[in-house]
Amino acid sequence: MQDQVTNSVRMQFCSRSENVAFARTATAVFASQLDFTIDQLDEIKLAVSEAVSNAIIHGYKNSPGMVRLELNIIGRTLEIIVSDSGAGIADVEWAMEAAHTTDANRMGLGFVFIKEYMDDLVVQSEVGKGTTLFMRKSTDPQVRH
Ligand code: ATP
Ligand code: MG
Repeated sequence: MQDQVTNSVRMQFCSRSENVAFARTATAVFASQLDFTIDQLDEIKLAVSEAVSNAIIHGYKNSPGMVRLELNIIGRTLEIIVSDSGAGIADVEWAMEAAHTTDANRMGLGFVFIKEYMDDLVVQSEVGKGTTLFMRKSTDPQVRH
C-alpha cells in the first residue's frame, strides 16, 4: 500500500534574506518528527537554505515576492516543496550542472548540494511563471542513496 501523508505544514513568507534562516529552522523542527541523525538534519537545512536563497536571489531578483514552503511526512520520508512565482529557469538541465550559474559572482553549486544531500530532487520551472523544487529525504535505508 502507498504510504499516506501523515503530517503536513504549509507556509509562505516574503522574499527577504532574513527568512532563509526561518525556513531552515522551521524545516529542521518539523523534520525532527522523523528519526533523522543530526548530520542528516544539517543536510536538510542546507538544502532548504539553497532552495529558498535561489527563490529570493534568482526567482525574485531580490525584489518583493512570496516564497512558499510545504513540508510533508509520508511514511519515513520527508518531502519539502519550495516554490516561487518569479523569473523561472530557461534551461533546468543546464542550471543543475556544477558551476553553471547566470550570476558570475556566484559558484553555481546550490543545485549540486541539494542533489547531494537529498535522496530525490525534481525541478519544475517555466520562464515568467516561476520555479518549484520537490525534494525528498528518507530515514529508510532502502530509500536512501
Ligand atoms: P550558488 O548557489 O553557488 O550561490 P547559483 O545560485 O548561481 O550559485 P545554483 O543554486 O546551482 O547556483 O543555481 C543555478 C542557476 O539556476 C542560477 O544561477 C539561476 O540562473 C538558476 N536558478 C536557480 N534557482 C532559480 C529560481 N528559483 N528562479 C530562477 N532561476 C533559478
Ligand atoms: Mg544558488
